[in-house]
Amino acid sequence: MTSSSELIGVIERRSAHNYHPLPVVIREAQGAWVTDVDGRRFLDCLAGYSSLNFGHGNEKIVEAAQRQLARLTLTSRAFYHDQFAEFCSGLGDLTGKDMILPMNTGAEAVETAIKVARKWGYEVKGVEPDQATIIVMEDNFHGRTTTIVSFSTDPDARGGFGPYTPGFKIVKYGSVEAVREAIDANTVAVLVEPIQGEAGVLVPPDGYLTQLRELCTAENILMIADEIQSGLGRTGRTFACEHEGVVPDMYVLGKALGGGVVPVSAVAANEDVLGVIKPGQHGSTFGGNPLACAVGNAVIEILRTGEFQERAARLGEVLHARLRELVGEGVVTVRGRGLWAGVDIDPSLATGRQVSEALMARGVLAKDTHGSTIRLAPPIVISEEDLLWAVEQLADAIASF
Ligand code: PLP
Repeated sequence: MTSSSELIGVIERRSAHNYHPLPVVIREAQGAWVTDVDGRRFLDCLAGYSSLNFGHGNEKIVEAAQRQLARLTLTSRAFYHDQFAEFCSGLGDLTGKDMILPMNTGAEAVETAIKVARKWGYEVKGVEPDQATIIVMEDNFHGRTTTIVSFSTDPDARGGFGPYTPGFKIVKYGSVEAVREAIDANTVAVLVEPIQGEAGVLVPPDGYLTQLRELCTAENILMIADEIQSGLGRTGRTFACEHEGVVPDMYVLGKALGGGVVPVSAVAANEDVLGVIKPGQHGSTFGGNPLACAVGNAVIEILRTGEFQERAARLGEVLHARLRELVGEGVVTVRGRGLWAGVDIDPSLATGRQVSEALMARGVLAKDTHGSTIRLAPPIVISEEDLLWAVEQLADAIASF
């Protein structure tokens, strides 16, 4: 059998260095635990950036995938297939929206929302051709395409990839006033993460989403919620917007929609919005394929019971209560909601990367974001005992510096 170090050596030589992974080579996984090629076990506290909300090897999801894999995997959208109706009506019911537009990756779904908002702006709102603007937030993360990085404020994500796509105004996250000031006659949409994941699990001030919703309604602007990371159970609700009782005009979904098995993303909106897209104007060969829909249908069925949302809420209380005790013990701040936390490490002690490596040495996989923040987002199937054990490892890792 080939060892971790040999495999890492090949990967480092033969793959582009667009990531800086922890030095672990995973071979298999079940629930919240993964095993590497050297037989070591680790508790997964990243869950594929919240794609594995329902756990590795979730029986219902894997069964749905296997059944579909043997039957029909791709038709392209040139034809209908028998999984698509259930996917659109199921996801439509879950979001409370009339229509679904399926894609594959999160970035594609965000691009879809941008295109839909612009077209809606011209055809419904009456904005002058090619003048539409979309208001976005500082420290946003919506993906890696050239248009999306055009409105990133992260120099690594954006730098060197110009010329940039125009039509975006960037404002401070968490400030409704900043959005209000940025609005003009050409504004078609506000694109917001209800909780900013990549920025370090930043939760906006109470009332922010409600006020944003009211402002968008008053100004005839679409509110687009990118719930790719925050949605589908992670925060203790199906959608993070629900914590404020807010319903956006468009949901952008991805990650956990594919159950950690296949890339599945989608935009959900009512017909007055999504109806602007006509044949030939948008699409994807694999978007809405039978395998993706079968997996998506299993995910939607799981979410319909509310079981995972409740579990994330309950375990989230446990997680945050314990993490709060670490403040002052090498931890500066803890943020988050549900089973999702951003833990800021005292930068004078160690970098986030150093803490991630120390955690890995203690059997926990978590990843740093933005210098000194550790993000914790384990699969929601994690046991309370394992969760508390992970926090003990974090405390121990921090204490080792
Ligand atoms: N939007 C948000 C909020 C995300 O967290 C991510 C990925 O981390 C994306 C969009 C991009 O998704 P993908 O990597 O599937 O393109």
